[in-house]
Amino acid sequence: MAERHRRPEEPERCSVSGCKDEAERSVSSKRYQAALPGVALNGEVGRRVALCRRHYKEFRKKTKEDRELERLGW
Ligand SMILES: [Zn+2]
Repeated sequence: MAERHRRPEEPERCSVSGCKDEAERSVSSKRYQAALPGVALNGEVGRRVALCRRHYKEFRKKTKEDRELERLGW
């Protein structure tokens, strides 16, 4: 009866500060911070940031918008 007590692997959380959603994607933190410099990230940000679906979408949208803004002379 020696059942091993395995702790369920904790799902990775989104790196965006205050966001508790489960991360679905990870992107380069450099790219993320370049696209969304105003977004605060949780403490342990390494080379990559984990993003939930919502924040990943925001990132994707932002990278698109940036291209748009360049065109407008920002
Ligand atoms: Zn998030």
